[in-house]
Amino acid sequence: MATTHETPVLIVGAGPVGLGLAADLGWRGIDCMVVEQGDGTIVHPRANTVNSRTMEFCRRWGIAEQVRQAGTPPDFPSNIVYATTLQGYELARIDRPTYGGHKPLPTTPERSQRCNQLFFDPILRELAGSFPSVTLRYRCRFESFAETQDGVLATVRDLATDKTETIAARFLVACCGGQSAIPKSLGIRMEGAAAISYHLNVFLKIPELWNHHDKGKAAFYFFVNRDGDGSSLIELDGRELWRLGLDCGPTRIAPEKLDIAATVRRLLGPNVPYEAISVLPWTCRSIVADRWRGGPVLLAGDAVHQHGPTGGFGMNTGMGDAVDVAWKLAACLDGWGGAGLLDSYQIERRPVAQRIVREATDNMEYEFDPAMRAVLEDATPEGEAARRRMREEIVTNRTRVFVSDGIVLGYRYDPSPIVWNDGTPPPRDSISTYVPTARPGSRAPHAWVADGKSTLDLFGKGFLLLAFDGAAADANALKRAAASRDTPLRVVAIDDPAIAALYQRRLVLVRPDGHVAWRGDAAPADPQAVIDVARGVSARPAANAQGAADAAAVR
Ligand SMILES: Cc1cc2nc3c(=O)[nH]c(=O)nc-3n(C[C@H](O)[C@H](O)[C@H](O)COP(=O)(O)OP(=O)(O)OC[C@H]3O[C@@H](n4cnc5c(N)ncnc54)[C@H](O)[C@@H]3O)c2cc1C
Repeated sequence: MATTHETPVLIVGAGPVGLGLAADLGWRGIDCMVVEQGDGTIVHPRANTVNSRTMEFCRRWGIAEQVRQAGTPPDFPSNIVYATTLQGYELARIDRPTYGGHKPLPTTPERSQRCNQLFFDPILRELAGSFPSVTLRYRCRFESFAETQDGVLATVRDLATDKTETIAARFLVACCGGQSAIPKSLGIRMEGAAAISYHLNVFLKIPELWNHHDKGKAAFYFFVNRDGDGSSLIELDGRELWRLGLDCGPTRIAPEKLDIAATVRRLLGPNVPYEAISVLPWTCRSIVADRWRGGPVLLAGDAVHQHGPTGGFGMNTGMGDAVDVAWKLAACLDGWGGAGLLDSYQIERRPVAQRIVREATDNMEYEFDPAMRAVLEDATPEGEAARRRMREEIVTNRTRVFVSDGIVLGYRYDPSPIVWNDGTPPPRDSISTYVPTARPGSRAPHAWVADGKSTLDLFGKGFLLLAFDGAAADANALKRAAASRDTPLRVVAIDDPAIAALYQRRLVLVRPDGHVAWRGDAAPADPQAVIDVARGVSARPAANAQGAADAAAVR
């Protein structure tokens, strides 16, 4: 007979999203079990960018410094170079001063880092495994599930013994990536394009490549030439590991058909010594699931959204899903969260993913004029003119691909049923620009409250009510309302006019994920209603819900 285990939360998949979710649940003291079919070995490098929002999560979990140390060294440039080939003409350069190192930025306590999944996933694994409430099971394949009265009964196979086991869980979270069968089993449809283009990535070892060309050290080299504009070379460790990306367009090319030597010769140079470690074929998609939940089953990460890697959003979006769903699961399991919390997960995260998938797809589909490309490598006045025009086009149109603070920090949960709209218009942020705001639904903005301590360091465990300008006494009503429902809420008084001006109201209620739930200048008329909406127990009054829809439409 199959062994049966029990866990409140069963997570399928120990990619970054499953591990991030397990870590956040573990950090909150919630029991969970992760089943992963692999043994944890990462054979090919994928995500490279750990953006500043994901770094903020890492800061919360106490691993930000570890990520900084494990990734590309802080003095390695994060700039982007466009060239015809590594030995050919340089076309343009885009600087990313907000990447890497320790220097503070005004909008976030954490800079984006370059830390490939080769190094990032093991850090997350170690973190998740360090919590006593988290069980990690590698070489354990999820096979199927059935919904029960209390949640799900899942069947898994221990790949070491080839024996099946059942796991009874209150919730199942599918973090099993783009090949997951779980969405199909729930009748979930993927909306969008299932295949935009086919690609091959070649994982290379080239020690000190910069000694073999004149373009200097860069994080990315993009190659635009008469053959196309879809090849790139990406630095992975600042020493010797690189990933050469090749766009095969509409044709799927088998890895064994690729002439690696000829490709390296053409793009990197005839005399560059290299070792090819592996080749990964992948398909560029542009899809978002129509539903992110089926009863006790929730889905996160690549299981519900996939797009091209340009911009470095995929994993980071999945980490945002994990952090959004984690506190909601924890609240439900701790007994103070209502059914509305889990309903709000898709309402909050799906529009964020749709915006990102749209942007990433536009980035992937961008094409340079083939007539201009055809002469770029020519040592003629016509070639020179084309290179000049190309430079202007790259700087004007491609900078947003690599500087995307509006996406990274400016995402908002406008339509959320657990956020109190305050009637103010949203700031006009863009893809590249983030405008800090404490408008409900937004990420509560960063400011330094003390040496090395950010406002963000105050958030996480339970709700936090920030009281500015002597408003601590007005905070009591909300504090009492939360206590009457066993909902964790702390009040922190901040006596700093600059931070008060940034938050714009005397009282600001911040959720456990660091997003603003409500704000006002005085205690609300019905403090219980504010708390009950924020913890997903009651619906917002109709007038407030309409206001949120109007504000969302402004976007
Ligand atoms: C070339 C490339 C470059 C990229 N660059 C970036 C970047 O710079 N920044 C960024 O943010 N994103 C990037 N991405 C995207 C990023 O890699 C993914 O978005 C991210 O890995 C998704 O994480 P995940 O945990 O959802 O899924 P995955 O990483 O796919 O993990 C899913 C896990 O589930 C396991 N699993 C599947 N089925 C089962 C089962 N039945 N039982 C048990 N386990 C199972 C799998 O073995 C796997 O370990 C890139 C992707 C590619 C292809």
